[in-house]
Amino acid sequence: MSGQIRILVVDDESVTRLMVRRVLLDSGYDVMEAEDGKAAVASCREHLPDLVLMDVRMPAMNGFDACRAIRKLPSGQLVPILMLTGLDDVMAVTLAFEAGATDFITKPINWALLGQRLRYALRTNRTARRLRDSQQLLDRAQRIAQLGQWTLSMDGLTLTCSSEMREMLGLDDDVALDCDALLQRVVQEDRPRLAAFLDRLQSGGGEEPVEVRFHVGQGMRHLAWSGSLSLDDHGRPKSCFGVVQDLTDRRDAEAQLNYQAHFDALTGLPNRVLLRDRLRTAVTASHRGGTGFAVMELRTNAMARARAAGGPAAADRVLRAVAEHLSGLLRERDTLSHLGGERFVLLVSDVNGEVDAGTVAQRLTEAFSNPLVVDDWELLATVHAGVALYPADGDEPEALLRSAAAAQARAETECARESGYRFFTEGIQERVARTIATQVALFRGLERGEFELHFQPVVQVTDQRCVGVEALLRWRRPGVGLQMPDTFIAMLEQTGLILDAGEWVLRSAIASIKALPISLAINVSPRQLQHPNIANRLLRVAEEMDFPPSRLEIEITEQAVLHDEERAFAALHDMAARGVRIALDDYGVGYSSLHRLKQLQRLPLHALKIDRAFVTTLLSDTADAAIVRSTIDLCHELGILVVAEGVEDDSTLERLSSFGCDLAQGYGIGRPMPPSGLGDWMSNSRFGSLPM
Ligand code: C2E
Ligand code: MG
Ligand code: MG
Repeated sequence: MSGQIRILVVDDESVTRLMVRRVLLDSGYDVMEAEDGKAAVASCREHLPDLVLMDVRMPAMNGFDACRAIRKLPSGQLVPILMLTGLDDVMAVTLAFEAGATDFITKPINWALLGQRLRYALRTNRTARRLRDSQQLLDRAQRIAQLGQWTLSMDGLTLTCSSEMREMLGLDDDVALDCDALLQRVVQEDRPRLAAFLDRLQSGGGEEPVEVRFHVGQGMRHLAWSGSLSLDDHGRPKSCFGVVQDLTDRRDAEAQLNYQAHFDALTGLPNRVLLRDRLRTAVTASHRGGTGFAVMELRTNAMARARAAGGPAAADRVLRAVAEHLSGLLRERDTLSHLGGERFVLLVSDVNGEVDAGTVAQRLTEAFSNPLVVDDWELLATVHAGVALYPADGDEPEALLRSAAAAQARAETECARESGYRFFTEGIQERVARTIATQVALFRGLERGEFELHFQPVVQVTDQRCVGVEALLRWRRPGVGLQMPDTFIAMLEQTGLILDAGEWVLRSAIASIKALPISLAINVSPRQLQHPNIANRLLRVAEEMDFPPSRLEIEITEQAVLHDEERAFAALHDMAARGVRIALDDYGVGYSSLHRLKQLQRLPLHALKIDRAFVTTLLSDTADAAIVRSTIDLCHELGILVVAEGVEDDSTLERLSSFGCDLAQGYGIGRPMPPSGLGDWMSNSRFGSLPM
């Protein structure tokens, strides 16, 4: 076996070469000779030996230069080169190592040991080669498995990554990383996961792998991290070591598959599978106390028309246009799905009853009253929708889909050539249509100035003089007549229009009464008080109109502070601090109780208005009289004024006076009147006479 090992002996002294050759041949090596450095390099270039034994001092090319030249040959890095140096030539030894020599042997040669030295050098070389080969194999295996390795110092400050890992992270070779810099590259939501993983490792804890996403260039890579603690010779933690596996391709493929399984290829909309999933989620969410939802099936003849006119390709284009058109009309949280052909199903979430669902259906069907524009042609098409409400029309996905389909079929027969929608439950259609019509009318009414204000005087009981008015909203609805607040306030609230209406009320009321020496009370509804900026909004109006806040009174009901107490409380305190007076309206109806009253003490109340239900019966009902009287006493105890509402005659006013009531309001004093009548009333009524 050793006969195959080839040794190149380089020396300019032929005697030395001869002796070395003899010893080596005896030891079973194959021997080649060269008489100077130049010849040695040429020989190596032709056939690399397993070992070079080379003299340093030679003509033509010395040993050092030859050594350097051999190292530059292909695979020349690995061949062991032993230099023959003089016994005390320290300089030569240093130069030899610098030139890349593996070891040195001193002259005169110790013949007995020469064989051993060579064997030893060859063995070390074999080990080094094996190590390098296995390293290369490992690198290749890691590259194939898309693995990278890392080491983290115990203080978390130094992170060393293999070149594979650097590639995965898109890091240049010279970028140094510590824990923080590493985490900066992690997708934000995954950061805590990786941080916890590294913490756990460092404290010797669990070694559960984690998968985190990294920002790399324009994209994202999914890397799975696993690791363990490395210990030093004394069993103390030395560093953390681990591997990362690049799962990006796998995750991308999964995402792609997932997309294909859940989305319609033509429209990009969710398909039946995803719709069912969303429906199930909606049912569960509703069970947990979320809001209701509706399922709507829509069918359009747009594609059939396009196909008839321009073939299947045209139909596909129109299908995409319809999908886009419908999607554009929806909110983010609604799911529009395409079930194939002309069928779309919409999951409308956050539906607060039939009117909400009807509004959406109306919007979608109305959107088809104009021609659909697809590229360069226009297409007039119809859409028919059927609405099923959860849980009334089905308490699970399949039942709801069936109900929606049945309602859709009815819409198709009943609306025929017009776009339109039908509810599954027949009775509600009319009611919803009426409500929506009223909502639309209210909206237009606000825009077109159909609202007006009436003012009802408030008098001081002691001297029976008018000290203020309450503004009361009216709607002069075209074709219907003057509408009282109870027919539309609730709807203004539901639609959110109350915010604009409320501002209009304040502005218009101030304009009407500003010149009179009285205060102004306006009603503010619960929904208005929920608005985060209500105090500023109202006070800005007063300021713009140069109306002092001290002349303004806000009437609220208990409901206003029932829901989101903190926000309403904050708004009221804010207004009170800026001089606005706060009155509690309709006291006595609804939730009033002594307990509530105590709670209401947290409000900056200026006055309390006793509901007319107690006042109109004051003279006939002793219980009501007792309630009114004790409420007045209680309020005075708390430093709150009392206003009696619904005073319809003089005797009631007298009785209130005897109870010590502060203010009064009612038909017996003055009915709500248009601003034009207010001046007259002021001058002519016995309550109205303006102070001299
Ligand atoms: P409210 O604030 O308690 O207003 C008093 C209501 O009692 C008014 O009805 C008024 O016309 C009526 N009233 C006054 N004196 C008498 C009386 O002696 N006998 C009888 N039977 N009724 C009397 P109106 O104008 O129909 O207002 C009803 C409610 O609508 C108001 O109750 C108020 O809560 C609300 N409202 C009115 N205007 C507005 C407004 O601008 N914004 C808001 N948010 N709500 C308003
Ligand atoms: Mg009021
Ligand atoms: Mg009232």
